[in-house]
Amino acid sequence: MMAFDMTFSVDDGVYRSACRMCHGGCGVLAYVRDGKVVKLQGDPESPLNRGRLCPKGMAIVELLYHPDRLKHPLKRQEKEARGNGNGSLGRRP
Ligand code: SF4
Repeated sequence: MMAFDMTFSVDDGVYRSACRMCHGGCGVLAYVRDGKVVKLQGDPESPLNRGRLCPKGMAIVELLYHPDRLKHPLKRQEKEARGNGNGSLGRRP
């Protein structure tokens, strides 16, 4: 399976974007260095959040680069997918 690299082919700098951790879409400024987001802060020019971010928004960078993050779809194993016929997915004793 192809490895998924979380670096971007963009120049270093500050990019205006929107948080998508909820439906709110607060304005964010993403600081990019060497193709990675190194810092995120609320966009002071966003009329929605005026420079503020909630804790979920503040955690985006940690989520983006967390070692346990799923980076590709997982393939279900056949035995697990079928279950045992009694409505549960566990094995019969
Ligand atoms: S900063 Fe918080 S409130 Fe704003 S869009 Fe992100 S998760 Fe929603």
